[in-house]
Amino acid sequence: MKKQYFLLIALALLVSLFNGCKKETGFKTLIITGQNNHDWQASSPLLKTILEESGLFTCEIMTTPEKGGDMTTFDPDFSKYKLVVIDYNGDSWSDKTNTSFTDFVKSGGGVVIYHAANNSFPAWKEYNEMTGLGGWGDRSEKDGPYIYYRRDSMIVDNSPGRGGNHGKRREFLVRTRIADHPITKGLPARWIHGNDELYSELRGPAKNMQILATAFADSAAGGGTMRDEPMLMTITYGNGRIFHTAMGHADKDGGPAMQCAGFIVTLQRGAEWAVTGNVTQKVPFDFPTAAGVVLRPDYTDLTFEEALENISNYDVGKSTKNLVCIQHHITELAGDEKGLLETEKAIVGVLTNDKTTIEAKKLLLKELSWMGSDYSVSAIKDLVSNSELKDEAEFALARLQSSK
Ligand code: ZN
Repeated sequence: MKKQYFLLIALALLVSLFNGCKKETGFKTLIITGQNNHDWQASSPLLKTILEESGLFTCEIMTTPEKGGDMTTFDPDFSKYKLVVIDYNGDSWSDKTNTSFTDFVKSGGGVVIYHAANNSFPAWKEYNEMTGLGGWGDRSEKDGPYIYYRRDSMIVDNSPGRGGNHGKRREFLVRTRIADHPITKGLPARWIHGNDELYSELRGPAKNMQILATAFADSAAGGGTMRDEPMLMTITYGNGRIFHTAMGHADKDGGPAMQCAGFIVTLQRGAEWAVTGNVTQKVPFDFPTAAGVVLRPDYTDLTFEEALENISNYDVGKSTKNLVCIQHHITELAGDEKGLLETEKAIVGVLTNDKTTIEAKKLLLKELSWMGSDYSVSAIKDLVSNSELKDEAEFALARLQSSK
């Protein structure tokens, strides 16, 4: 094996922490929806997509009766599921359903509370203990304190006032507060979330609750508290574990709040933790940082073929996400000569396409200089006559010849 190839492997392993292989079957998951002041017809199928994309969950969406409908007909058998995701903000459920949901959580069931689900059921004591914090629904000091961070301290604030607020939608910085929790382990200390509502002034019983991440609600965006508001929380209730994300306001196609790789990945990790108490998923290479938002318009990780197609438009200053994906793919094929040759052929195909940008060709020449074989040589020789690519092409040829 070429010496340089080891360097590539080391580099790619450092940079690209990908999701592993997808499992065939997953934890049985129930997504409850049907009433919301949000577009639940958009959000619930996307929650299903996001969770199933992890390979860990098999999801079923159940809708309640419409507003004003007969809630006694809504009576899920929670015992069939490992995880219940609440994408619901509407009429109270029946006492029987409330009791069976509470029993499900007490006996160890996992729960995800998503965005406006923390507005739900202001009068249901057990539910509010499961969510930890909530907003709207006439919540006030009677429901519990405000909880937030000021600098590095968590503040429990019993002052009177409304529960729940948000300013204008915007991108905002999320700050990890507990870095060694299974959900947050390996995530950047700070990352920028896609355009979303920043929920503030949440209040509630906050028992057995940990705040994993906060976001600063600046007043410049209107309605800001100038506090670091809880964004990601965990709560335990009986033997059950609850993951609560205040983020993810849905547009028709999910929009930037749901497409944000930070939202997607924390949801997947939080859901796994809620079921097992652990997280086995790797932090993907495209998790956002403080440098900027990362959106996944189709909610999935890139494939090699997509990354190669995308990279053909590469220009200086654009994201190198596609390149990292290609490098990861090559690393995974270490030792598989046939697979590597197929990959090399695909790269040469893009390299020799007239529509591929010069900057993309430079990147691909660099890749071929590490991983290429005799197959690439004639295509690279043809590029030496191109004044914009001469240096990179000669460099690649020299590398390929010296590694023989
Ligand atoms: Zn919202």
